[in-house]
Amino acid sequence: MSPSGAELLRQIKDRIDEVDPAAVRERLQSGALVIDVRQDEEWAAGHLPGARHVPKSHIESRIEGAAPDKATPVVLYCASGQRSAWATRTLIEDLGYQNVASMTGGFTLWKDRGYEVEVPRFMSAEQRDRYSRHLLLDEVGIDGQQKLLDAKVLLLGAGGLGSPAALYLAAAGVGTLGIVDDDVVDLSNLQRQVIHNSERVGVAKVDSAEEAIRALNPDVKVEKHKLRLGPDNIMQILPGYDIVVDGLDNFPSRYLLNDASVRLRIPVVSAAILGFDGQLSVFKPYEGPCYRCLFPVPPPAELAPSCGANGVLGVLPGTMGLLQATEVIKLILDIGNPVIGRLLMYDALAASMTEVKIRRDPQCPICSRDPDEIRDDELGVFPDYEAFCAGAH
Ligand SMILES: [Zn+2]
Repeated sequence: MSPSGAELLRQIKDRIDEVDPAAVRERLQSGALVIDVRQDEEWAAGHLPGARHVPKSHIESRIEGAAPDKATPVVLYCASGQRSAWATRTLIEDLGYQNVASMTGGFTLWKDRGYEVEVPRFMSAEQRDRYSRHLLLDEVGIDGQQKLLDAKVLLLGAGGLGSPAALYLAAAGVGTLGIVDDDVVDLSNLQRQVIHNSERVGVAKVDSAEEAIRALNPDVKVEKHKLRLGPDNIMQILPGYDIVVDGLDNFPSRYLLNDASVRLRIPVVSAAILGFDGQLSVFKPYEGPCYRCLFPVPPPAELAPSCGANGVLGVLPGTMGLLQATEVIKLILDIGNPVIGRLLMYDALAASMTEVKIRRDPQCPICSRDPDEIRDDELGVFPDYEAFCAGAH
C-alpha cells in the first residue's frame, strides 16, 4: 500500500532542511534568494519583501531564471510550509540544486510574527493575461509591467515613426501616451503610417491614432495635443512626461525640442529617416551628448529632408520607430544598454547597422550649462527656416 499524502509529506520533511521565519528574515536582509512558490493571486495579496515569485506549478521550467547557479542557497516558502516542502524536494532530488530549504510555517507564520509584508500594486486578471508574456520575463515581471503602466511617454508626431512606436508602446501597456500632431490623415500617409487606415483619411491624426490605440489596449490613456510644436507651447507640453519620442521631420523643431528637453532633463529617443537609411540615438540630458553636441550647426540645406517631400521606403520608418519603442521600454525598465552616446545607422539596402560614438561637447551652447541657466528666448535658436530651405534651390 502506498503511503498517504500526510505520510509522504512527513517523509519529505524528514529529508529536507527547514528554516524558521526569523532566520529567513535575516537571510533576506543580507540579500539571500527567497522564492515564493504560491499561486499568482496569493503572491498578489502580499509577500515577503525582496522575495521572488516562482509558482510551484511552474518551478521546473522557471527556477533557472531565478537561480541559474544550482549551488546558490535558496529558501522556498508557501502559505503553510507544505507546498514549499514538496518544491524543495523537487529542486534537490529532480533538478540537482544543492542548497535549498523550506520556510517553517510559511507566509501564515511570517504574518503571525508581525514581520513586514510587501503588497504588490493591483493588476487585474485581464491585465495579467494581456501582459503574460512580459510577466514571464525576469527583466519585466509584475514590477516592470507596473512601471510601464505608470509611465508617461510623449510622441512628437503620429506619422511614419510615431505610428509603429505608438502602436507597440500601447500594446506593451505604457499607461499614458501623449501625441502631438496638427495634421490630418492623407492617403499618401498610409504607405507607412500604419496607425491610420483608409476609412480615416481626412480625420485628425491625433483622433485617428487615439481610435487605434483604444481598440488595441483600453489600459492606455491618450493625451491629444492637436497643435504644431513651437517655442510658444513646448514648455507647457513637455513637463510631466518621462520620455519623448522624437518623430519630428524638421531641424528647427529638433533644436527646439533638444533645448527644452535638456532644460527639463527629459530623455529623448530620436530617429530620422531618408530614402533607405535610418538613424537612431537616445539623448539623455547630462548623461550623454545632446542633439546640439551631435549637430552643432544644421546640415547643409540641400540635405535637409524637411525642405520638401522626399521618398522613403514604407517599412523603413516601421523599423526605426520600433527601435525607438524598444529604447523607450528599456529606459522605463532601466534594463540593457540604451543608445546613449551612440548613433546607430541602419542601411536597409545593405541590411547593415553601423554605429559611431558621439561625445558630449564641453563647449555645447546648451548642455554644457546648468539647466536653470537656459532662458526661454534661447530655446530652439535657429536660422530662419524658409530662408534656410530657399538656400537649397
Ligand atoms: Zn549638448
